[in-house]
Amino acid sequence: MGKTTGFKEYKREVATDRPIKERIKDYKEIHISMPDEKIKIQGARCMDCGIPFCSWGCSIGNLMPDFNDMAYKGEFEKAYKRLSLTSNFPEFTGRVCPALCEGSCTLGANSEPVSIKEVELGIIEKAFKENWVKPNIPKVRTGKNIAVVGSGPSGLTTAAELNSVGHNVTVFERHDKIGGLLRYGIPDFKLDKSVIDRRINIMEKEGIKFKVNTNIGFDYDSNQLLKDFDSVVLCGGSTVPRDLPIEGRNLKGIYFAVDFLRYINKKVAGKDVSKEAIDLKGKNVLVIGGGDTGSDCIGTSIREGAENVYQYEIMPKPPIKRDETMPWPLFPRTLKTTTSHEEGAIREWCIETIKFIGEDDKITAIEAVKVKWEKDDSGRPMKVEVPKSKITQKIDLVLIAMGFVHPDHKGIVEDLNLKLDNRGNVFADKNYMTSVEGVFSAGDMRRGQSLVVWAMNEGRSVAKSVDKYLMGETSLRG
Ligand SMILES: Cc1cc2nc3c(=O)[nH]c(=O)nc-3n(C[C@H](O)[C@H](O)[C@H](O)COP(=O)(O)OP(=O)(O)OC[C@H]3O[C@@H](n4cnc5c(N)ncnc54)[C@H](O)[C@@H]3O)c2cc1C
Ligand code: SF4
Repeated sequence: MGKTTGFKEYKREVATDRPIKERIKDYKEIHISMPDEKIKIQGARCMDCGIPFCSWGCSIGNLMPDFNDMAYKGEFEKAYKRLSLTSNFPEFTGRVCPALCEGSCTLGANSEPVSIKEVELGIIEKAFKENWVKPNIPKVRTGKNIAVVGSGPSGLTTAAELNSVGHNVTVFERHDKIGGLLRYGIPDFKLDKSVIDRRINIMEKEGIKFKVNTNIGFDYDSNQLLKDFDSVVLCGGSTVPRDLPIEGRNLKGIYFAVDFLRYINKKVAGKDVSKEAIDLKGKNVLVIGGGDTGSDCIGTSIREGAENVYQYEIMPKPPIKRDETMPWPLFPRTLKTTTSHEEGAIREWCIETIKFIGEDDKITAIEAVKVKWEKDDSGRPMKVEVPKSKITQKIDLVLIAMGFVHPDHKGIVEDLNLKLDNRGNVFADKNYMTSVEGVFSAGDMRRGQSLVVWAMNEGRSVAKSVDKYLMGETSLRG
């Protein structure tokens, strides 16, 4: 360990964000990565605690004590190589991961954790700048052909891993661009789309084929796909949004968050979206749902010129600090104030929208009630309406950001009669194989809506299983 007393000498620091007044005028990335000197200092804070709970907290098991130390010593190329052992795309997680690792950092038990995410981003961006990130072209091809359905982080990780051991991989994507929710969910101000293009460019050079505008089960027969490929990996995501079927749901001006964000992402990319245009200028916008998707809707609505943005969450306001329900080293589910929240949103907790009110078929207001959470006889949380708490709020546009229920069943899932789990996700065994021999599944399509880092974990794990299934053994790490 280079700097044994670094954690005593230096304070936690994260990169500054662009000033609010400036950034809300555009969709450029908010976060500016830290200069090398500051990354080194954060690396020096890692205290060689002995048991790296950070690696345990990270779904892909990144080796933070190693790369923190290398960064501290200025050995950035070595740090990049160590990071690449466990992560295919640190440039995605370095931008959008909630940093599960930092929630488990030993320093965080009674102080501020190491800024691991900043170090990760600093290492990978330096690696790109210095041209250390090169196509990893396999020397020998196995002759096995694999179809990956879906090009989100799970599909991309699966493809990168399977290609690295010499299989011929084709990724199919129903949209016009590669990236899944990285492309058409997460806004540019969190993840600039050039970051995805930069990586796809490398993957193409590695030999991976990408076929866009190809909806498997519709544009390409599902059973034919099984005949054309030695193995198929389904990474189609969790794509059916949870609805709010209350009175007035059919009024105009009520959108699913994911449709809205896809429209904005296309608009920002310069595509012709005139037919699906959504005008937010001067409007009172209500975002229903207090999670990350809801937060992305806030930042986007503000950039689109909304007058007021409300965010209603049915669950209680989380505590500011860890409490007994989330002891270290568990990830602290504390109150999160995102950059979008900082830009201006009226946030309410314990509030349930019960009616959409409209005139001439268009939404003009909503009705909501306050709720409180008690425990039922079996100790489960139970929602109780607060008497006389009904409010009416003038609203011109609603974005439903209440998560996703499961993947689309129409198409390949029904065509192959795949077994589902009790939540409607694609069932797969411990080797990620579905109920059909040779067909595997990973990512949100299998585990339900989750995080980019979990999608990458699933992509690495499924690739290991597929390689073993096809070759009888595998050198992939999973
Ligand atoms: C708005 C929003 C913001 C988010 N922000 C964050 C964040 O900040 N940090 C974080 O960690 N996570 C975030 N998430 C969650 C994260 O994006 C997902 O967990 C992750 O993208 C799942 O990856 P995936 O590859 O399993 O699926 P997806 O990214 O959903 O990709 C699935 C792809 O499969 C394609 N597909 C589906 N069916 C077919 C078919 N039949 N044929 C061809 N293609 C098909 C879809 O079009 C899609 O492109 C966010 C999610 C949303 C909705
Ligand atoms: S992927 Fe996420 S949890 Fe893992 S090291 Fe990076 S920021 Fe931390």
